[in-house]
Amino acid sequence: MFNSKTSKIKILFLIIFSFIFCFCSFATTASYEGKNYEIKLIYNKEFCPGDPILVQMQFKFLGKLSKLPKDEKIISGKIRLVNSDTDKNLRSSTLFEMKSKKRNSVIYMGMVPTTTWFEKNNYKVKIEYNIGEFENNSFTLPLEFMPKEFVEEVLVLDQKNSDIKNDYSKERMNQIESLNKILDTNNYSFYKDEVLSEFSEPLVCDRRTSFFADRRTYKYTNGKSSTSLHYGIDYGVKTGTEVFSCGAGKVVMAENRISTGWSICIEHLPGLYSLYYHLDELSVKAGDEVDTLSFIGKSGATGLATGPHLHWEIRLNMEAINPDFFVTTYPTIFLQEREKFFRQ
Ligand SMILES: [Zn+2]
Repeated sequence: MFNSKTSKIKILFLIIFSFIFCFCSFATTASYEGKNYEIKLIYNKEFCPGDPILVQMQFKFLGKLSKLPKDEKIISGKIRLVNSDTDKNLRSSTLFEMKSKKRNSVIYMGMVPTTTWFEKNNYKVKIEYNIGEFENNSFTLPLEFMPKEFVEEVLVLDQKNSDIKNDYSKERMNQIESLNKILDTNNYSFYKDEVLSEFSEPLVCDRRTSFFADRRTYKYTNGKSSTSLHYGIDYGVKTGTEVFSCGAGKVVMAENRISTGWSICIEHLPGLYSLYYHLDELSVKAGDEVDTLSFIGKSGATGLATGPHLHWEIRLNMEAINPDFFVTTYPTIFLQEREKFFRQ
């Protein structure tokens, strides 16, 4: 990055960079100021177990840094979810760049999932970043944990559904493995716009038959049972109900699977995917680009289903996260706030 500079200049730069950040944080925004750059950021400080933690940052270059060619201002870094009691790293992922219209600034985003098993208010977020060769900059952001109760339910399965649950055939195992491979992909060059997409529920329906992170017990026809977590939201709608993409992105899977029937997976941001299960028919294929509320198929009862419904699920870095987050918290913080906050 700054290879051609003499070590004298490097030392000067390091002195300039060793300023003390002025940290001011309120609600969901924070800013850091220094001589050569400033960071403004938006994040969801309060979270329920199962919500993702998203941090969107604008790095604005000042003074000497603003005169450097644009390609030298590359920032690399990580977002970490940390246990604030033990400092143990719980999850981490790479920051990715969004497009920015402004010449002297760049916008980066970091996203980590939380799980529905979190119980205590002892989490914080750490952002580690490098600008050029100036390494090991970091700051932490406080988080406020909001407890949430999850539903417990027992599902009595008939013979067909019991058979699906106990199907360990090579075909089913291959289907599980290939979907996991997709969900484990962080395609960092994948983003469409300068701004984040709007999200919406995939259909209009007030009748939810199962909720995110229900603690489920399946009872099989052979008398045995097993427990599992319900990864998404089930909408009780009749077969043939139109289903729409919850956000802009690219279809990365559209096929018939043994356990989830006709299924669609859409990539929205690096590591962020939405899933639609038990469909009756598909209107998209892998590779298609979709917008928020693009028509993608019709609901049904294919695969393991006790009746017609749509299963909608969102995954971040493999972890199933709360889909409602994207239609409640996300628009108020990351769409409305961003307009005011990054405009100045
Ligand atoms: Zn479901």
